[in-house]
Amino acid sequence: MGPSGGRKIVCARCRLPLAAVRTKLTYQGVNFEAELPTCPECGQVFVPEELALGKMHELEVTLEDK
Ligand SMILES: [Zn+2]
Repeated sequence: MGPSGGRKIVCARCRLPLAAVRTKLTYQGVNFEAELPTCPECGQVFVPEELALGKMHELEVTLEDK
């Protein structure tokens, strides 16, 4: 929704600012939703370092509009 800390994340491919989109995640068989920065153009989801550096390397991201 609003700006989050003023830190803009830009899609490396499209050079567009990512927008927070409620995204369904699956982690170790558990489904949950989180708002992750998503490119409005190509749908690329940016996984924050906190998630990527944790034990979430098996994270599967499923876009809601699938
Ligand atoms: Zn993109």
